[in-house]
Amino acid sequence: MTANFDQVLAADAIVVGSGIAGLTAAIELAPLRVIVLSKGEVADGSTPYAQGGIAAAVGGDDSPAWHASDTLEVGGGLNDETAVEVLTGEGPARVTDLIARGVAFDRNEDGSLMLGREAGHDTRRILHADGDATGAEIARALVAVARASENIQIVDHAFAADLVVDAGRVVGLTARIGLNIQVLLNAPAVVLATGGVGRLYANTTNPPPVTGDGLAMAARAGARLRDIEFVQFHPTALASGRDPMSLLTEALRGEGAVLLDDQGRRFMVDVHEDAELAPRDVVARANWRVIQDGGKVFLDATTAVGAAFPTRFPTVFGLCMEDGIDPRKEPMPAAPAAHYHMGGIATDLGGRSSLPGLWAVGETARTGVHGANRLASNSLLEGAVFGHRAALDIEAAGMGNGVGIAALRAAEAPGLEPDPQPDVISELRDLMWARVGLIRHHTGLMSALEEIDRLGEKIEPGVSVGANMVAVARMIASAALLRTESRGGHYRTDFPETTRWWDRPVVVNS
Ligand SMILES: Cc1cc2nc3c(=O)[nH]c(=O)nc-3n(C[C@H](O)[C@H](O)[C@H](O)COP(=O)(O)OP(=O)(O)OC[C@H]3O[C@@H](n4cnc5c(N)ncnc54)[C@H](O)[C@@H]3O)c2cc1C
Repeated sequence: MTANFDQVLAADAIVVGSGIAGLTAAIELAPLRVIVLSKGEVADGSTPYAQGGIAAAVGGDDSPAWHASDTLEVGGGLNDETAVEVLTGEGPARVTDLIARGVAFDRNEDGSLMLGREAGHDTRRILHADGDATGAEIARALVAVARASENIQIVDHAFAADLVVDAGRVVGLTARIGLNIQVLLNAPAVVLATGGVGRLYANTTNPPPVTGDGLAMAARAGARLRDIEFVQFHPTALASGRDPMSLLTEALRGEGAVLLDDQGRRFMVDVHEDAELAPRDVVARANWRVIQDGGKVFLDATTAVGAAFPTRFPTVFGLCMEDGIDPRKEPMPAAPAAHYHMGGIATDLGGRSSLPGLWAVGETARTGVHGANRLASNSLLEGAVFGHRAALDIEAAGMGNGVGIAALRAAEAPGLEPDPQPDVISELRDLMWARVGLIRHHTGLMSALEEIDRLGEKIEPGVSVGANMVAVARMIASAALLRTESRGGHYRTDFPETTRWWDRPVVVNS
């Protein structure tokens, strides 16, 4: 096998992905020798885009139990309660770690942490940085710590292709570095931290590397996946024609911004008692309906935020102004967009997948904390908590083969991921948006599956981003077809009710 590779290397652990989850795992894993791969430049996934913040029960009147109760309330009965207790219980300690690693969260004048509120949270518990640039600050700090460690080698422009499985155990992976350097990486522990699936959809807030590769790799190797039909659509992305769409953070509605239709009517008050602060899926579907009926949706923060916009929400303010919209004075055009994947590679509380040697952390994992819907700002927290736990689990398992890591040839020959057949991918993304998106039904899902197969035949043979996207699209559409009910992020017009029978997961590779 090694004859087919330009380079063969060994490390104690390989982490695929350099977002909050992958970097947290890598930092905790050192002093083991760790290689971290990213498809583009380091921290090129969703993490630096995160705006609103990270949730944790650090306020004086808050408690992990209260945070857990809010998380369960939104999760539609499919959360794993123990995982939720771990998330909310260990959240404050992981926030302390982030601060120790240099993350500068916003503070009040008295030095205490400034806490915001978002939909679904019954109290103020959202830590944020630079107003609404929380993810960028976290990525900056973690990249700096990882780069400073001599035990972590960060490799950019490295496309992890396939897991190597030997006698039922993951023992490494194959990767392409730059345009054409084929590498075999051997390690007793592989951690997938590849993020979500947003790029499968025509309208998304997720950046280009987020194509579900980890799910495709894990499924091909035989690992179990769970809850993958649950995709979260954010209600308010800026409808200004960009891809990815800029996010209009939930915190805006937390501060009192309201949704209006093009008649200036505040339609959410007729939809839900919590109006704009109703669960994300409820608000997203209400927005979708207004748009499907030929109307437009606007998020109006002129009264709630007004002149404070540039200081309280500098990221959103900058993005709006770039597109010629002044949110201090005019409502922002808004639309729903694919944002987050609740399901993923099934793991235990230590991030272990069903395959020995393989761990999964962050958005690509299904730890059970989100159930059918994610509470705002719980995903950065999940990356920090379970990235940490996976590293401890790997260390406790006595992993590490004691080898050093030779410098990868990546540094000599960086290159760019080839464009994965743009016409086919764009057709796939339109199809997923129209038929496997916010509103689903049997006929649409059946025809989507036929179309996905047709598009799959157009993809060039071999492992590629395009092949991964088709494989993941097929799995999500199939799971959505199986779940004959509506719950959380999964809504079927032919089965609009939630049923007790479906208090069970759809499992891939069961
Ligand atoms: C606009 C936006 C705003 C958000 N706001 C918030 C918020 O305020 N609070 C919150 O909690 N959450 C928020 N989220 C969600 C949150 O940012 C993500 O869920 C989280 O950052 C995911 O982190 P991660 O480490 O799992 O993956 P990511 O940060 O997405 O990183 C994935 C990594 O995997 C790599 N990768 C993927 N495939 C491969 C491959 N084949 N080979 C090599 N590398 C690969 C990528 O290159 C990337 O480095 C937001 C998301 C978006 C898009």
